[in-house]
Amino acid sequence: MGRLVVVSNRVADPRKTASGGLAVALGQALQASGGLWFGWSGKVVEGGTPGEGDVHLQTAGPVQLATVDLSREDHDSYYLGYSNGVLWPVFHYRLDLADFDAGFIGGYRRVNQMFAHKLAAMLRPDDVIWVHDYHLIPLAAELRNMGCQQRMGFFLHIPLPPPLILAAVPEHEWLMRSLFAYDLVGFQCEADVAHFSRYVGTETSADILGEHEFRAFGKTLQVQAFPIGIDVDEFAALGRGRDAIDMYEQMRDEYSRRRLLLGVERMDYSKGLPQRIKAFRQLLQNYPENLGSATLIQIAAPSRESVDAYAALRHELESLCGSVNGDFGELDWMPVRYIHRSVARKRLPGLYRAACVALVTPLRDGMNLVAKEFIAAQDPEDPGVLVLSRFAGAAEQMRDALLVNPYDTTRTAETMQRALQMPLEERQRRHQALLQQVREQDVHWWRQRFLNALNAVSAS
Ligand code: ADP
Repeated sequence: MGRLVVVSNRVADPRKTASGGLAVALGQALQASGGLWFGWSGKVVEGGTPGEGDVHLQTAGPVQLATVDLSREDHDSYYLGYSNGVLWPVFHYRLDLADFDAGFIGGYRRVNQMFAHKLAAMLRPDDVIWVHDYHLIPLAAELRNMGCQQRMGFFLHIPLPPPLILAAVPEHEWLMRSLFAYDLVGFQCEADVAHFSRYVGTETSADILGEHEFRAFGKTLQVQAFPIGIDVDEFAALGRGRDAIDMYEQMRDEYSRRRLLLGVERMDYSKGLPQRIKAFRQLLQNYPENLGSATLIQIAAPSRESVDAYAALRHELESLCGSVNGDFGELDWMPVRYIHRSVARKRLPGLYRAACVALVTPLRDGMNLVAKEFIAAQDPEDPGVLVLSRFAGAAEQMRDALLVNPYDTTRTAETMQRALQMPLEERQRRHQALLQQVREQDVHWWRQRFLNALNAVSAS
């Protein structure tokens, strides 16, 4: 295999574990073959010229990091506008929250063209290029326009919606046609592959050559599900660290008389936070034995705060949490602890371990790694219970979780109660099955399967 080139919107230094499992896994893949990681630097240049940006080169062991600055105009249209204001909501089935401003697409194309232009100058003929996520769908098409013939794969970290939802994006045909510039396209789960297949069958004149093979626009494309996992060993090692142990002991002492339910995510409307608080309210209402005991710790890290829909969500959540605390709280018991901050990654396993129940109830999620981290962090002798939305990609794999429909708050409350009451033996059995699955299909398995499949297809 030639040199690996990873392209993603953000680039992380693979030597820093604070970057998380994905960065570590991609960093390891890059280190194995020697490689280049290319993306946005995270820097926005006020008054910069659209379509232009300085390239910064850095060396991290055998890996070269190449990052490009964005002008304010490009950042606002490519990143905030088209990527996070159009593609993110539509791909998460939220047409109501999409901002179809016709001005955004120009910036999205311009940045992809600029990235392709800067990257093409660094490529070698036998490079294998792996592009990540919705910000960069047209990157391969732009590279092909410049004559690049390398093997190219694309992985979509978020869901692909059904054809009629996707069709709401004014440029859907162009986006889907752009995918055919790749040799391999990977999705998180089989449902996404089925949506792709249905789209191609109904909206294009492509030939469906097999379950995973499509031909259109003079190009054959392989499409498969590659569910992403976590680095279980890295996470287990974090769990044995001082910070995680301190966190666990602090929580255990602080909440010794309570039963903890835990939610951890970015503050995002795809995560089903208002529905979760409503279901928790019903838990307290319908099962009063939980009064004075059940405590929901909801950590929601700030995210994309300059996008309007996020500010509205924050206000709704604050008001829902406030009303549960006002209606049910006692002087010595606060039912909801809502924290609008992130938790240091080193401390996270301790928090997961202290919880009796994890509430991972997104309305739609590509995969959801919190579900897998929670399982990896449990004490197998006395594990907590995972309540998981059937609309998370992870639900295809994690069948031993308690699956819920997060829109159905009454049944979700019932499931929370079942989780709180679950006998030890059933908790152990479910945890063991889930842990085995999380371990077998970890992030290294994911990465290796994708790269093997990419290397197996004949290059363009
Ligand atoms: P998404 O990519 O949509 O944010 P995932 O669940 O797939 O959702 O991945 C989230 C990652 O970010 C996980 O590794 C999780 O541990 C981390 N994370 C999410 N929210 C927080 C938080 N509030 N504090 C610390 N880490 C968080």
